[in-house]
Amino acid sequence: MAKTALVCGAGGFIGSHLVKRLKSEGFWVRGVDLKLPEFGGTSADDFVVGDLREQSVCRLAVDRNFDEVYQLAADMGGAGYIFTGEHDADIMHNSAAINLNIADACRKRDIERVFYSSSACVYPAYNQQDPDNPNCVEDSVYPAAPDSEYGWEKLFSERLYLAYNRNYGTQFRVARYHNIFGPEGTWQGGKEKAPAAICRKIALAKDGGEIEIWGDGSQTRSFLFIDECIEGTVRLLRNDGFEGPVNIGSDEMVSINQLVDMVSQIAGKKLAKKHIDGPLGVMGRNSDNRLIEKKLGWKPNAALYAGLEKTYAWISAQIDNG
Ligand code: NAD
Repeated sequence: MAKTALVCGAGGFIGSHLVKRLKSEGFWVRGVDLKLPEFGGTSADDFVVGDLREQSVCRLAVDRNFDEVYQLAADMGGAGYIFTGEHDADIMHNSAAINLNIADACRKRDIERVFYSSSACVYPAYNQQDPDNPNCVEDSVYPAAPDSEYGWEKLFSERLYLAYNRNYGTQFRVARYHNIFGPEGTWQGGKEKAPAAICRKIALAKDGGEIEIWGDGSQTRSFLFIDECIEGTVRLLRNDGFEGPVNIGSDEMVSINQLVDMVSQIAGKKLAKKHIDGPLGVMGRNSDNRLIEKKLGWKPNAALYAGLEKTYAWISAQIDNG
């Protein structure tokens, strides 16, 4: 009998890659999402198009004792969606409703292993003001002060899953993803993240021209390639005894200006940077990987540049294909 997995958010970027990974391991996979994946269809054996805010849809999706459940569904987007304040009520209500429903539906089906994707956005803004020295070690999350309502909802839901472990003996797992990027991610329309936005702008720019960047470009981040995100995700779910929360991110920190320079080099274009006002988020953020290495004996280690090459090639092809 094939092992079974449920991927909530299987129509999204990370979820659709995760479905492929589980299929390659021989799982029978059900996906559930409001929509099918935007690029290239789904590899899932069964796909429920439905709204996980509805308990009835959750009951339909969680209709058996799955070996593995991955809960990635969330109302989210890039800085242009999360940090403007215009979507705060929806972000909090929609994502919390999904998590309340899924945690309980899984418990009622006696599913032990559920993975929940939290975010680096849970970390307090006060530890991320210095672009050269951000602190994102896991236990620095309290006293809590996320810089967005998106981060507050993630923190609430982390606690929800861990409370189920305490009270019901489940083995729910919590990871904090840090800026995941790669092919088949949103690259236009306002919900795209910095690597995809920069790849698009550079692919569209003429050699010798200029591209617009939000802020002065000195803010720092790390970016994790999708394949390593998936690897860390399945490793955390399948480990025995460690529930998290744990960072799943890269510790190769770069400034946004450096990121632009890397992609310009990949594209073979010389471009001027025009710095404009835009939503920025915190000034510095980097993944602290000491805990994941200690607990799982593994941490991400692929070079940012290699992931950017693959992502730039994919976004350029999207633009070329109209
Ligand atoms: P995504 O937006 O591509 O995928 C999320 C999916 O959830 C979407 O396909 C969306 O349609 C689905 N969804 C939203 N509301 C739903 C509902 N009511 N019912 C059913 N499906 C619903 O995002 P992603 O980049 O694949 O991220 C996956 C998870 O990882 C999210 O929980 C996100 O918050 C978290 N995360 C991602 C990153 C990142 O850099 N991509 C960083 C930190 C955390």
